[in-house]
Amino acid sequence: MPIDARHNSDYRSRHGLRAVINVSGTMTSLGASIIHEDAIAAMAEIAPQWVEMDDLQRRASAVISRLTGSEAGFVTACCAAGISMSVAGAMTGTDLLAVEKLPDRTEGLKDEVILQLGHAVNYGAPVDQSIRLAGGKVVFAGTATQVMPYHVERAIGDRTAALLFVVSHHTVQYGQICLEQVVEICRPRGVPVIVDAASEYDLRGFLARGADVVVYSGHKFLSGPTSGIVAGRKDLVRAAYLQNKGIGRGMKVGKESIAGVMAALEAWEKRDHAGIRARETAALELWKTTLDALPGLNAEIRPDPTHNPLDRLEVAVAPESGFTATGLARALAAGEPPVIVRDHEAELGFFFLDPCNLHPGEAEIVAEALKRVMAAPRPEGAMAAPRQNTEKALRWPD
Ligand SMILES: *Cc1c(COP(=O)(O)O)cnc(C)c1O
Repeated sequence: MPIDARHNSDYRSRHGLRAVINVSGTMTSLGASIIHEDAIAAMAEIAPQWVEMDDLQRRASAVISRLTGSEAGFVTACCAAGISMSVAGAMTGTDLLAVEKLPDRTEGLKDEVILQLGHAVNYGAPVDQSIRLAGGKVVFAGTATQVMPYHVERAIGDRTAALLFVVSHHTVQYGQICLEQVVEICRPRGVPVIVDAASEYDLRGFLARGADVVVYSGHKFLSGPTSGIVAGRKDLVRAAYLQNKGIGRGMKVGKESIAGVMAALEAWEKRDHAGIRARETAALELWKTTLDALPGLNAEIRPDPTHNPLDRLEVAVAPESGFTATGLARALAAGEPPVIVRDHEAELGFFFLDPCNLHPGEAEIVAEALKRVMAAPRPEGAMAAPRQNTEKALRWPD
């Protein structure tokens, strides 16, 4: 089936779901990814078949190692699950009784996990909870905006199981200790460094720079099904994998997702990255030209804050536009079709348009939506101030 036909299939209308256009990035709340057609094919192929799961994961390990340079790897439910399982593995090693005793019966185990305070992010849930779910005790190092080597050095003690290093636009982007320095501190002291690289393109760099374990989402840039990838030192990966007999059970991944991620990784090796980048750049330029002609809006192309090879369009919303950034984002989301922008920094007066998840023809639809919303009378809430709120979440399923 050609991509367009799949995109326009009537599944969403049959189920009363809005046919949203995603210019916000790879978002769990919008379905995580456009799954690559090779991954869809692999998932459909394995769905009706029996397979020995440890062998399937062995095959996945080989593919993961080929792409990441790791000694071993496995697939789990998502990156957050991979963090919990990696932390648990650093605590239990291959002690199967300890695996069963987690998360609350940790006597005798190293159970402290160091986290720089500026890395204590929320990616839909707090990162420190992924540590606590394994039974790990979080030891914060430094302050939100300044971490010094001595903060990390002195956080290390007899009970230190690991250090978790988060790579994300969500972290404080200055004043933290870089990965190389963290490795310099941790390696001589025998403390494994686990990297949360959920949303990073670079599949080799973190291990190459000294990380012991790295965890990715299978469903972000890789365009796999919802899943997580754990890669790294064989002893640590094995110990993390053994958590499938413990806390990892509630993070179970199916054969279809393992097969899907393997296919997505293989597709990643062959992907026309330059061609995709060129299409993304064309979308950014179209949107910039559109926005430059609209009053009160200023658009600038910005590189990705964690150096992934992609740019986004920053749209600054001035009062002359008749909107706040929040108000304009809401108007676009309420449109037909709904356009969901990247607005988690809206209180700073801007949002982003992310070109990474577009189907053919959608860049033009977004440009038309911008023009239409700006030409229409200002809706209620156009000048809304950004407020954190939980009302909608607390009403679900109503
Ligand atoms: C998205 C994200 C996660 C969570 O990934 P899931 O695969 O959805 O669990 C964790 N860490 C960072 C930095 C992320 O961006």
